Amino acid sequence: MIEIEKATTEKSTTEEPIDIKPKKPSKIQTLRGFQDLLPDFQDYYTMIKKAVRHRGRQSGFKRITTPIMEETAVFSRSLGESSDVVSKEMFTMTSRSGKLMTLKPEATAGIVRAYIEHGMHTLPQPVQLYSIEPQFRYDRPQKGRFRQFHQVDFEVLGMKDPSIDAQMIHMAYKILEDLQISDRVDIQINSLGSAENREEYMEALRDFFFDKKQHLSEDSQARLEINPLRILDSKDEDDQILVSMAPKLKDFLSPESKAFYETVKDYLRELNIPFYENEGLVRGLDYYCDTVFEIWDKSQGAQNAIGGGGRYDGLAELLGGVPTPGVGFAMGVERIVGHMKDSGIKPASKDNVQFFVAQLGEEGKKKALKITTNLRDLGFHALGGMGKSSMKAQLKMADKSGARWAIILGEIEVRENKAILRDMKLGKQEIIPLENIEQTVIERLGEKPDIYTLGD
Ligand code: AMP
Repeated sequence: MIEIEKATTEKSTTEEPIDIKPKKPSKIQTLRGFQDLLPDFQDYYTMIKKAVRHRGRQSGFKRITTPIMEETAVFSRSLGESSDVVSKEMFTMTSRSGKLMTLKPEATAGIVRAYIEHGMHTLPQPVQLYSIEPQFRYDRPQKGRFRQFHQVDFEVLGMKDPSIDAQMIHMAYKILEDLQISDRVDIQINSLGSAENREEYMEALRDFFFDKKQHLSEDSQARLEINPLRILDSKDEDDQILVSMAPKLKDFLSPESKAFYETVKDYLRELNIPFYENEGLVRGLDYYCDTVFEIWDKSQGAQNAIGGGGRYDGLAELLGGVPTPGVGFAMGVERIVGHMKDSGIKPASKDNVQFFVAQLGEEGKKKALKITTNLRDLGFHALGGMGKSSMKAQLKMADKSGARWAIILGEIEVRENKAILRDMKLGKQEIIPLENIEQTVIERLGEKPDIYTLGD
């Protein structure tokens, strides 16, 4: 558990000569692993949110937002004390009253806490929820790995059926298809069986590795103590050789879990979703049972996976609720954006500027302000050079803004009740009357207005 460093307010005790020159304040930058999501990123993010909302709506999902911070127990009880997330990656701090609080490292535990807290088990089941939220993990920052990242997340609670698991994988795949990157991913699936099956299997693994411990990597030796399942997804070559000789999880699945898994796969084939069975896939968190799946980068495998999820039938009880089956998945927004960029996908952006209104003099400025806001009200994208810059400087701004047309209100034009309309693409210009100028320029543009209604 990482304690957030406390800001120190202590003064240095060594006396230093007083520096009379005022010091230029140093630049402050984002914290390591944190990043600004700049406008270029937002265009991709908007596209992802659109796909998520669209697909969610089609299947009856409702949006939920849980707090960014929860009582630490929400995560430590759900994910397991031995999971990497809880043992190494949580941003935890202590409240003034001494309560441990953690910035959410993943979405499921908070959503299940909310399901219990709001008595959602009394609603018609299943309850289907999705969220688009920032998450926080004290990961070692590197390409595609941040300390604040964003996840889209889908959860179905209150009903257990293999068709729901298949629909979740279908949903994840469809979103990636909408975003044109489904050909860059591989879906890996496995079954962990019931909690009892898993316990028995872990016991068998402990027995198997008992006299081979010294041949395991340091990480896996530690895993043997706390969660031997995690040895299965070790990247170490020697570990992998031993794992290939170890008992197999599938031999420990109960007949019900086996049948459940077979049906999930059957449904996936029916839905034409390509997948790979991966006996080593265990997911890092304790709450999973039966179906688990991950969405891997085709070229990098498990490294920088795009998403993952699975079934968590025992989780609600761990958090003090009634027994409630559940299944869900999350996908990382930054990683999706990375794939979209790598495959040259240009997100549609409505941020184009259509008109730039340039002006000179008090009267010109008043008129320009009116024309600019009128154009906006009519559904067009209009910017105005509202400062006191020269006409030359304003036209430079118009050019930089990418405006299709510039409307120029010089002092002479305004006096004569006219304006200059400049075609920024062709470099041609004409004089037009100020009267009904909005209609004239909209006609020249020949584009539909960008309007929204609150009912959209
Ligand atoms: P996990 O539950 O750990 O499998 O996370 C689900 C998805 O969230 C991953 O497949 C990634 O796409 C994304 N993700 C997890 N951790 C990070 C991180 N530190 N930085 C960026 N994305 C992440």
